[in-house]
Amino acid sequence: MLAYKFRLYPNKEEERKLLWTLEVCRRVYNRFLELYNEGEHDRFKLQAMLPVWKESDADLRGVHSKVLQYELHQLFANLTSHRGLKERGRKAGKLRFKPSNRFRTITYNQTGYWLEPKNDKFSFLHLSKIGDIPIRMHRTVDGKIKGVTIKHMPSGKWFTYLLVDDGRGLRDFAVIDSAVGIDVGLEHYAVDSDGNEVENPRHLKNALKKLRREQRRLSKKQKGSKNWDKQRMIVARTYERVCNQRDDFQHKLSRHYVDSFDLVVTEKLGTREMIENGHLARSISDAAWNSFDYKLAYKAERAGKLFVQVDPRGTSQECSCCGKLVPKDLRDRWHDCPHCGLSTSRDHNASINILNRGIEKVGQELPELACGHWTATPPSMVVQARWMKQEALS
Ligand SMILES: [Zn+2]
Repeated sequence: MLAYKFRLYPNKEEERKLLWTLEVCRRVYNRFLELYNEGEHDRFKLQAMLPVWKESDADLRGVHSKVLQYELHQLFANLTSHRGLKERGRKAGKLRFKPSNRFRTITYNQTGYWLEPKNDKFSFLHLSKIGDIPIRMHRTVDGKIKGVTIKHMPSGKWFTYLLVDDGRGLRDFAVIDSAVGIDVGLEHYAVDSDGNEVENPRHLKNALKKLRREQRRLSKKQKGSKNWDKQRMIVARTYERVCNQRDDFQHKLSRHYVDSFDLVVTEKLGTREMIENGHLARSISDAAWNSFDYKLAYKAERAGKLFVQVDPRGTSQECSCCGKLVPKDLRDRWHDCPHCGLSTSRDHNASINILNRGIEKVGQELPELACGHWTATPPSMVVQARWMKQEALS
C-alpha cells in the first residue's frame, strides 16, 4: 500500500462542511473513548452504539457512516500504540480525550469517495456528504484507491492522503549480491556500513534554524494576543516547510539505498539513542527516523528489494570485527578495539553491526536466500574486507 499526498482546494462552503465533519467525528471519537473508559471494551458492542446514537442525533446522520465507524478503528489503534509506549517504559497515563486543535483528520475507508479528472493539473475528489473538492494532482496514481484521509494543517491548508494498492511487491532476486546497514543518528543524519557519512542538506539545516528562531519569538509573545496568533501561523508555516524539505531529502536518500542494494538494514526506530541517553531523544528526530524507515520499506517493497530492521541493543558497544564488547559512553565518538585493533568511527562500527544482524536475520527467516556469497565468508569478514579496501583507497 502506498500513500499519495495531494493538496485540496475546498471553497468556503466545502471548508465549512469539512470543519463541521471534523467536529462531529471528534465528538464520536471522544464518546467511544468515554464508553471504553467506563469499562466497555467489546469493539462490536461499541460499534453497535452508532445506529442508536444516530436516531437521536441528526448531526451524525450528516456524516458518511464509514467515516464515523473509522473513529472506532482509530481509537483501538491509539489504544494499541498507547499500550506499546507503556510497555517500552515511557511515561503514559490514560489515553486523553481529543481537543479540537488535536483532531485534524477524517478518513473514508473503502467507500464514499471517487476521483474525477478535470484537466491535467486538477481533478475533483468526491467525498460523500461533503462535495466535490478540487485536488491538485502533481503525479499520477496507479492502482486502486483503498482509502482517503483528509488532513487540516495548523497553517489552515487542506491535504489528502490517497491510500493506493498497486498490486506490486514481489521479490525479484534469489541471491543477495549487495547489502548495506544504515545507522541514523544525531551527529550525522546517517552513517552506512560502507563508511559514508550523510549530513542533513544545508537548506534543511537553515530551515530548522529558522524554525527554532520563530519558536523562540512565539514564546516571548503574550499568549492569546494578536501578535501571538500571527507568530503562531508563521511557526506553523515554517514547520511545514521543514517537514516538506526533510521529506524530499529522505525520498532521495532512501531511493539511493534501495536502488544500490538488494538488502537494506536499519535499527528499529531511533531507540538506541533513547536507551543510551533519554533526554537526547527528541520527538522531532523520532518522527523523522520513523518516516525514513517507512520510505525505505515501501520503496524496497516496490522495487522487489529486502528491507530489514534489527534490535538496536548494543550495536554501538559491540566490535563489528571480533564481536567483543567495547564499552563507551555517548561522548565517545570513536571505536578503538583493544582486542582486534579495529579503529573506526562509532557510528560506522554501529552500522556494520546493524548490517551483520540484518544478514543473520535474513539467513534465519529466508534461508532460501542465504545461498549468496554472504555465507561463503562470515558476514563480518566480508564487510571488514570492504572496509579495509576503502581505507586503503583514501
Ligand atoms: Zn574487535
